[in-house]
Amino acid sequence: MVKNIAIDGPAGAGKSTIARKLARKLGFRYLDSGAMYRAVTWQALKQEIKLDDERTLVSLAEGMEIVFLPPAEDGISPLLVGGQDITKEIRQPIIDQNVSLVAKVKGVREAMVRQQRKMASTGNIVIDGRDIGTRVLPEADLKLYITASLEERSKRRYQEQLFKNPLVNYQEIKNKIIRRDKIDCEREFSPLVKDQDAILIDTSNLPIEEVINKIMQLIKDGEHND
Ligand code: C5P
Repeated sequence: MVKNIAIDGPAGAGKSTIARKLARKLGFRYLDSGAMYRAVTWQALKQEIKLDDERTLVSLAEGMEIVFLPPAEDGISPLLVGGQDITKEIRQPIIDQNVSLVAKVKGVREAMVRQQRKMASTGNIVIDGRDIGTRVLPEADLKLYITASLEERSKRRYQEQLFKNPLVNYQEIKNKIIRRDKIDCEREFSPLVKDQDAILIDTSNLPIEEVINKIMQLIKDGEHND
């Protein structure tokens, strides 16, 4: 029986939409690990901590209580820090621009991984991120690496953001994705890599529903082989 699913991949590949739908279909919880790094970044910026001050970032991350509430009607779990709902704040462009700098700090990662493993310990969970299959849950029952072409990922982010701001610039969004992926892939601790056991799914030309069907089939096939 599949009890936990690890999904990794670069920004804009469709991981969170897929993970959320998959969790709903399976009756599992969904943990958005990226939201946790975003929460630390939000708190660090709020406290005007310099993002190269690793010691202060680590003690901030170690002392932070990050709480996810059960999903709201839109399927998104509100995220609370110190009782404050910062679900919207962590999606701001300022967080997109800085989160990778915070997430590359070893001690910040260790603090987040500890919390993620604790949340996953009761099973029946889908987690998405950058190091789930390689570090957080190396024994996950199913590991997926979800990706898409840079053009497609940039196009999706552009369309998402166009709703909020009609003046967004496609090339700027693409450059930001390139920069974030570069930091995530080249960092020293737990860089984004495809785990050797992970199944690669390229969503460039695949509608979400087809991706979900494909994963459900993988789960069924896995159960027959148990
Ligand atoms: O998934 P999302 O794009 O919201 O993640 C934001 C950032 O958090 C990533 O670009 C990466 O720097 C960091 N992250 C990470 N490890 C994870 C999840 C996210 O380093 N497991």
